[in-house]
Amino acid sequence: MPDKQSDAPVIVWFRQDLRLADNPALRAAAKTRRPVVPVYILDETGAGKWALGGASRWWLHHSLAALGQRLSDRGARLVLRRGGAREVLAGLVEETGATQVVWNRCYEPAARSRDEAIEAHLRGRGVTAENFNAALLHEPWTIETKSGRPYTVFTPFWKACLRRPAPPAPLPAPRRLRPAAAVKGERLESWNLLPRRPNWAAGFEQVWTPGEAGATRRLNGFVKATLPGYAAGRDRPDRESTSRLSPHLHWGEIGPRQVWHAVAPRAGAKAAVEKYLSEVGWREFSYHLLYHVTDLPTANLQKKFNDFPWRRRKAALRAWQRGKTGYPIVDAGMRELWTTGWMHNRVRMIVASFLVKHLLLHWRAGARWFWDTLVDADLANNSASWQWVAGCGADAAPYFRIFNPVLQGERYDPQGAYVRRWVPEIAGLPDKVIHKPWQASEEVLLAAGVVLGKTYPKPLVDHAEARAQALEAFKTIKG
Ligand code: FAD
Repeated sequence: MPDKQSDAPVIVWFRQDLRLADNPALRAAAKTRRPVVPVYILDETGAGKWALGGASRWWLHHSLAALGQRLSDRGARLVLRRGGAREVLAGLVEETGATQVVWNRCYEPAARSRDEAIEAHLRGRGVTAENFNAALLHEPWTIETKSGRPYTVFTPFWKACLRRPAPPAPLPAPRRLRPAAAVKGERLESWNLLPRRPNWAAGFEQVWTPGEAGATRRLNGFVKATLPGYAAGRDRPDRESTSRLSPHLHWGEIGPRQVWHAVAPRAGAKAAVEKYLSEVGWREFSYHLLYHVTDLPTANLQKKFNDFPWRRRKAALRAWQRGKTGYPIVDAGMRELWTTGWMHNRVRMIVASFLVKHLLLHWRAGARWFWDTLVDADLANNSASWQWVAGCGADAAPYFRIFNPVLQGERYDPQGAYVRRWVPEIAGLPDKVIHKPWQASEEVLLAAGVVLGKTYPKPLVDHAEARAQALEAFKTIKG
């Protein structure tokens, strides 16, 4: 046990803030000049149905490896422990003689109540517990309507955010951290976060570099090459048209203040910057919603949807999950998701709309699949977005506006490059029919080596019929 107060270590509890720069909790610990014990706790005790999905586990493994390396470069060793966070922290305080524990805030309902209990517990034992904002531009409770209520519509919410002072400049990473006496931890490999047989994540490695360095590179590359064309190009899945920062933001390998300050000063790209920041604003809005509506991940925000006649169709759900619906743009998206752990936003909207409106399956079934397969699976963004597409969310797309997957494909993937990449069995079809193979003539199908129903599925449902059924279903809950 350290005998001098000045030598009592500070525990830095890492969670969804796996970075050193602009990390206020780490910064606060470093500033004390006392030994630092960085810890990550794999706490699956209270997660329930929102335990980490497979793709998230893959990401976490690599992100922790990267964080461990960065910390050790600065003199501190990342301690890995598994178990209930409260017990693990209490044990670490006991073992190390720490008198202070710091962390950055999480906003998921289960994490919030857990953290409040931990804070009270630590304080009760005379340990200082402090927490900070590393994940949002504005705390959810600081943005409210004139009547003091949370916002439920995006545009006034984002305007209110923009009226506030600009987010503070990001903090630099601490140069050195004073090491603490050795503390026992577990081996990352022993957590078995990576898939074994089959290794379905082989494609992830080609696309992603989890960790702070990968996140920073991604941001810098985006600002230089892609940002100027963002406003016009962001809906094109056939191009590298967006930042692909979502998993890095989810895991806190980069924070929104860093993104803001990298993007906002770009002169000559006003429209692109405004559009991009407003997308980051949708992330803020989703967190705002989840903070104020804690059952957002499971309950319809608009209660009239509680009576919606959702169907149960296992085979249809499976066809959707596997990218075998017979609608090329839907199948391309679902296969991109499976192979890379990510899907372009426009295509997420198309596949989600197809699930809830063409197949009449509950949005929760889609949200769960995304939860398991996305590397950016995020309780706030995923729940808010699924409810938005389903029509039952905040500021949602009206239910009766039903995407036509063929027209969507033709508009946003005009040469079919995206479809050809992910659905290679129809790649030989001409552009004219690439989004509707069932309209191709026998000769064209033959020439492209496509046998509908054999090499590529026939459409699972007919668009016009599905649309009519969806509108009928919607009528039953109107009013
Ligand atoms: P960019 O266009 O470069 O945007 C920059 C950042 O802004 C993103 O990284 C993201 O953090 C945020 N952002 C962009 N669009 C949205 C949006 N509509 N809602 C909230 N934040 C947004 N995003 C997730 O991060 N996790 C999810 O689990 C998730 N699930 C979704 C489910 C559905 C059905 C839909 C339609 C969207 C979902 N999104 C989710 C939102 C969006 O699709 C992704 O954030 C975006 O595609 C990520 O790509 P990007 O980083 O290139 O985005």
